[in-house]
Amino acid sequence: MSPDFTPDAPLTLALSKGRIFEDTLPLLEAAGVHVTESPDSSRKLILPTSDPGLRLLIVRASDVPTYVQYGAADFGIAGRDVLIEHTAQHPGGLYQPIDLNIARCKLSVACRADFDYAGAVYQGARLRVATKYVQAAREHFAAKGVFVDIIKLYGSMELAPLVGLSDVIVDLVSTGGTLRANNLVAVEDIMPISSRLIVNRAALKTRGARLQPLLDAFERASTADAGTA
Ligand code: ATP
Ligand code: MG
Repeated sequence: MSPDFTPDAPLTLALSKGRIFEDTLPLLEAAGVHVTESPDSSRKLILPTSDPGLRLLIVRASDVPTYVQYGAADFGIAGRDVLIEHTAQHPGGLYQPIDLNIARCKLSVACRADFDYAGAVYQGARLRVATKYVQAAREHFAAKGVFVDIIKLYGSMELAPLVGLSDVIVDLVSTGGTLRANNLVAVEDIMPISSRLIVNRAALKTRGARLQPLLDAFERASTADAGTA
Protein backbone atom coordinates (compact mmCIF):
# COMPACT_ATOMS: atom_id res chain seq x y z
CA MET A 1 0.00 0.00 0.00
CA SER A 2 1.36 3.41 -0.88
CA PRO A 3 1.38 6.23 1.66
CA ASP A 4 -1.87 8.17 1.87
CA PHE A 5 -1.12 11.76 0.84
CA THR A 6 -4.69 12.68 -0.12
CA PRO A 7 -5.27 16.21 1.17
CA ASP A 8 -8.08 15.40 3.61
CA ALA A 9 -6.65 12.18 5.09
CA PRO A 10 -5.86 12.73 8.78
CA LEU A 11 -2.34 13.73 9.70
CA THR A 12 -0.57 10.79 11.30
CA LEU A 13 1.92 11.20 14.14
CA ALA A 14 4.10 8.15 14.93
CA LEU A 15 5.43 7.71 18.45
CA SER A 16 6.25 5.00 20.97
CA LYS A 17 4.29 4.27 24.12
CA GLY A 18 5.95 4.74 27.48
CA ARG A 19 7.92 7.82 28.31
CA ILE A 20 7.76 9.46 24.88
CA PHE A 21 3.97 9.10 24.76
CA GLU A 22 3.62 10.47 28.32
CA ASP A 23 5.89 13.44 27.61
CA THR A 24 4.12 14.18 24.30
CA LEU A 25 0.65 14.51 25.86
CA PRO A 26 1.37 18.00 27.29
CA LEU A 27 2.74 19.12 23.92
CA LEU A 28 -0.46 17.93 22.21
CA GLU A 29 -2.54 19.66 24.89
CA ALA A 30 -0.64 22.88 24.21
CA ALA A 31 -1.71 22.48 20.57
CA GLY A 32 -5.33 22.02 21.72
CA VAL A 33 -5.37 18.27 21.06
CA HIS A 34 -6.62 15.79 23.67
CA VAL A 35 -5.90 12.09 23.64
CA THR A 36 -8.61 10.17 25.45
CA GLU A 37 -7.28 6.63 25.13
CA SER A 38 -4.02 5.27 26.47
CA PRO A 39 -2.01 2.83 24.34
CA ASP A 40 -1.56 0.59 27.40
CA SER A 41 -5.22 0.11 28.26
CA SER A 42 -6.73 0.27 24.78
CA ARG A 43 -4.15 -1.92 22.99
CA LYS A 44 -5.00 -0.03 19.80
CA LEU A 45 -2.10 0.75 17.51
CA ILE A 46 -3.92 3.68 15.89
CA LEU A 47 -5.33 6.13 18.43
CA PRO A 48 -7.82 8.86 17.56
CA THR A 49 -7.50 12.33 19.07
CA SER A 50 -10.00 15.10 19.79
CA ASP A 51 -8.95 16.53 16.40
CA PRO A 52 -10.50 14.42 13.64
CA GLY A 53 -7.64 15.60 11.43
CA LEU A 54 -4.93 14.03 13.63
CA ARG A 55 -4.34 10.43 14.66
CA LEU A 56 -1.51 8.74 16.54
CA LEU A 57 0.34 5.64 15.39
CA ILE A 58 1.85 3.65 18.28
CA VAL A 59 5.01 1.84 17.16
CA ARG A 60 8.27 0.56 18.64
CA ALA A 61 10.64 3.47 19.42
CA SER A 62 13.25 2.33 16.91
CA ASP A 63 10.59 1.92 14.18
CA VAL A 64 9.34 5.54 14.35
CA PRO A 65 11.90 6.92 11.82
CA THR A 66 11.04 4.13 9.36
CA TYR A 67 7.28 4.88 9.39
CA VAL A 68 7.99 8.58 8.87
CA GLN A 69 10.66 8.15 6.21
CA TYR A 70 8.39 5.96 4.06
CA GLY A 71 5.39 8.28 4.55
CA ALA A 72 3.21 5.82 6.49
CA ALA A 73 3.23 8.58 9.13
CA ASP A 74 3.53 12.28 8.25
CA PHE A 75 5.58 13.08 11.30
CA GLY A 76 6.92 11.40 14.42
CA ILE A 77 8.75 11.74 17.70
CA ALA A 78 11.99 9.84 18.27
CA GLY A 79 14.98 9.94 20.60
CA ARG A 80 18.32 11.33 19.41
CA ASP A 81 19.74 7.85 20.16
CA VAL A 82 17.31 6.21 17.72
CA LEU A 83 17.85 8.93 15.10
CA ILE A 84 21.64 8.53 15.13
CA GLU A 85 21.34 4.81 14.44
CA HIS A 86 18.63 5.32 11.75
CA THR A 87 20.44 8.17 9.98
CA ALA A 88 23.63 6.09 9.69
CA GLN A 89 21.65 3.66 7.51
CA HIS A 90 19.44 6.25 5.73
CA PRO A 91 21.28 9.58 5.53
CA GLY A 92 19.17 12.64 4.77
CA GLY A 93 15.86 10.77 4.71
CA LEU A 94 14.17 12.78 7.44
CA TYR A 95 13.61 16.44 8.20
CA GLN A 96 14.36 17.13 11.90
CA PRO A 97 13.09 20.61 12.68
CA ILE A 98 12.67 20.66 16.48
CA ASP A 99 14.32 19.31 19.62
CA LEU A 100 11.29 18.79 21.87
CA ASN A 101 13.41 18.49 25.04
CA ILE A 102 11.37 15.52 26.26
CA ALA A 103 12.45 12.00 27.37
CA ARG A 104 15.80 13.41 28.44
CA CYS A 105 18.65 11.18 29.54
CA LYS A 106 22.32 10.59 28.68
CA LEU A 107 24.18 8.14 26.52
CA SER A 108 27.04 6.90 28.70
CA VAL A 109 29.81 4.34 28.97
CA ALA A 110 29.42 2.06 31.99
CA CYS A 111 31.33 -0.90 33.38
CA ARG A 112 31.74 -3.06 36.48
CA ALA A 113 32.90 -1.10 39.50
CA ASP A 114 36.08 -3.25 39.58
CA PHE A 115 37.02 -2.58 35.92
CA ASP A 116 39.76 0.06 35.48
CA TYR A 117 38.29 1.86 32.45
CA ALA A 118 40.67 4.85 32.57
CA GLY A 119 43.63 2.49 32.88
CA ALA A 120 42.50 0.33 29.98
CA VAL A 121 42.05 3.39 27.76
CA TYR A 122 45.42 4.81 28.85
CA GLN A 123 47.22 1.56 28.05
CA GLY A 124 45.58 1.37 24.62
CA ALA A 125 43.81 -1.90 25.40
CA ARG A 126 41.26 -3.17 22.87
CA LEU A 127 37.83 -2.86 24.50
CA ARG A 128 34.82 -5.08 24.06
CA VAL A 129 31.73 -2.85 23.97
CA ALA A 130 28.21 -4.27 24.19
CA THR A 131 25.48 -1.93 23.00
CA LYS A 132 22.28 -1.34 21.10
CA TYR A 133 23.77 1.98 19.90
CA VAL A 134 26.40 0.66 17.50
CA GLN A 135 26.84 3.83 15.46
CA ALA A 136 27.06 6.23 18.41
CA ALA A 137 29.47 3.89 20.22
CA ARG A 138 31.69 3.44 17.17
CA GLU A 139 31.94 7.20 16.64
CA HIS A 140 32.66 7.89 20.30
CA PHE A 141 35.55 5.44 20.59
CA ALA A 142 36.95 6.33 17.16
CA ALA A 143 37.10 9.99 18.25
CA LYS A 144 39.01 8.94 21.40
CA GLY A 145 41.36 6.73 19.39
CA VAL A 146 40.29 3.63 21.33
CA PHE A 147 40.12 0.32 19.44
CA VAL A 148 36.88 -1.55 20.08
CA ASP A 149 35.03 -4.71 19.22
CA ILE A 150 31.36 -3.77 19.17
CA ILE A 151 28.90 -6.47 20.23
CA LYS A 152 25.37 -5.61 19.13
CA LEU A 153 22.61 -6.32 21.66
CA TYR A 154 18.89 -5.54 21.53
CA GLY A 155 18.25 -5.10 25.27
CA SER A 156 19.42 -5.66 28.87
CA MET A 157 22.91 -4.38 28.12
CA GLU A 158 23.66 -4.29 31.87
CA LEU A 159 24.05 -8.04 31.85
CA ALA A 160 26.96 -8.12 29.39
CA PRO A 161 29.82 -7.00 31.71
CA LEU A 162 28.47 -9.17 34.56
CA VAL A 163 28.83 -12.38 32.57
CA GLY A 164 32.02 -11.51 30.69
CA LEU A 165 30.41 -10.75 27.33
CA SER A 166 31.97 -7.27 27.29
CA ASP A 167 34.28 -4.94 29.21
CA VAL A 168 31.92 -1.98 28.98
CA ILE A 169 28.45 -1.08 27.75
CA VAL A 170 27.15 2.00 26.00
CA ASP A 171 23.61 2.64 27.21
CA LEU A 172 21.08 5.30 28.14
CA VAL A 173 21.25 6.44 31.75
CA SER A 174 18.78 8.64 33.59
CA THR A 175 18.83 8.10 37.35
CA GLY A 176 21.56 5.43 37.33
CA GLY A 177 19.30 3.12 39.34
CA THR A 178 19.53 0.22 36.88
CA LEU A 179 23.33 0.49 36.76
CA ARG A 180 23.59 0.56 40.57
CA ALA A 181 21.28 -2.42 40.93
CA ASN A 182 23.71 -4.39 38.75
CA ASN A 183 26.94 -3.12 40.38
CA LEU A 184 27.83 -1.05 37.32
CA VAL A 185 29.11 2.53 37.27
CA ALA A 186 28.90 5.18 34.57
CA VAL A 187 32.47 6.14 33.69
CA GLU A 188 31.99 8.52 30.75
CA ASP A 189 29.20 10.65 29.29
CA ILE A 190 28.92 10.46 25.52
CA MET A 191 26.06 12.89 24.81
CA PRO A 192 22.82 14.27 26.20
CA ILE A 193 19.72 12.65 24.70
CA SER A 194 16.27 14.08 24.13
CA SER A 195 13.49 13.42 21.64
CA ARG A 196 13.02 15.30 18.40
CA LEU A 197 10.23 15.90 15.96
CA ILE A 198 10.85 14.30 12.59
CA VAL A 199 8.85 15.06 9.45
CA ASN A 200 8.39 13.20 6.18
CA ARG A 201 9.90 15.33 3.41
CA ALA A 202 7.00 14.85 0.96
CA ALA A 203 4.39 15.54 3.65
CA LEU A 204 6.16 18.78 4.50
CA LYS A 205 5.68 19.91 0.90
CA THR A 206 2.15 18.61 0.24
CA ARG A 207 0.61 18.98 3.72
CA GLY A 208 2.71 21.80 5.11
CA ALA A 209 -0.27 24.09 5.66
CA ARG A 210 -1.82 21.55 8.06
CA LEU A 211 1.44 20.44 9.65
CA GLN A 212 2.92 23.86 10.33
CA PRO A 213 0.46 25.03 13.05
CA LEU A 214 1.14 21.81 14.99
CA LEU A 215 4.91 22.14 14.56
CA ASP A 216 4.68 25.75 15.79
CA ALA A 217 2.61 24.77 18.84
CA PHE A 218 5.03 21.94 19.71
CA GLU A 219 7.97 24.28 19.35
CA ARG A 220 6.40 26.94 21.61
CA ALA A 221 5.47 24.33 24.25
CA SER A 222 8.87 22.63 24.22
CA THR A 223 10.78 25.92 24.48
CA ALA A 224 8.55 26.97 27.37
CA ASP A 225 9.36 23.66 29.07
CA ALA A 226 13.06 23.44 28.33
CA GLY A 227 14.23 24.96 31.60
CA THR A 228 12.08 22.85 33.86
CA ALA A 229 12.11 19.38 32.26
P1 ATP B 1 12.01 -1.13 24.13
O1 ATP B 1 12.02 -0.68 25.56
O2 ATP B 1 10.64 -1.40 23.57
O3 ATP B 1 13.03 -2.16 23.80
P2 ATP B 1 13.22 1.37 23.72
O4 ATP B 1 14.11 1.11 24.88
O5 ATP B 1 13.85 1.93 22.49
O6 ATP B 1 12.44 0.11 23.24
P3 ATP B 1 11.82 3.16 25.46
O7 ATP B 1 12.44 2.54 26.64
O8 ATP B 1 10.37 3.52 25.48
O9 ATP B 1 12.01 2.28 24.15
O10 ATP B 1 12.65 4.44 25.10
C1 ATP B 1 12.23 5.29 24.07
C2 ATP B 1 13.14 6.48 24.03
O11 ATP B 1 13.07 7.20 25.27
C3 ATP B 1 14.63 6.13 23.83
O12 ATP B 1 14.92 6.00 22.46
C4 ATP B 1 15.30 7.31 24.49
O13 ATP B 1 15.40 8.40 23.58
C5 ATP B 1 14.35 7.68 25.61
N1 ATP B 1 14.75 7.03 26.89
C6 ATP B 1 15.11 5.75 27.07
N2 ATP B 1 15.43 5.50 28.35
C7 ATP B 1 15.25 6.67 28.99
C8 ATP B 1 15.38 7.08 30.35
N3 ATP B 1 15.80 6.22 31.28
N4 ATP B 1 15.07 8.34 30.67
C9 ATP B 1 14.63 9.20 29.74
N5 ATP B 1 14.51 8.88 28.43
C10 ATP B 1 14.80 7.64 28.06
MG1 MG C 1 13.64 0.68 26.94
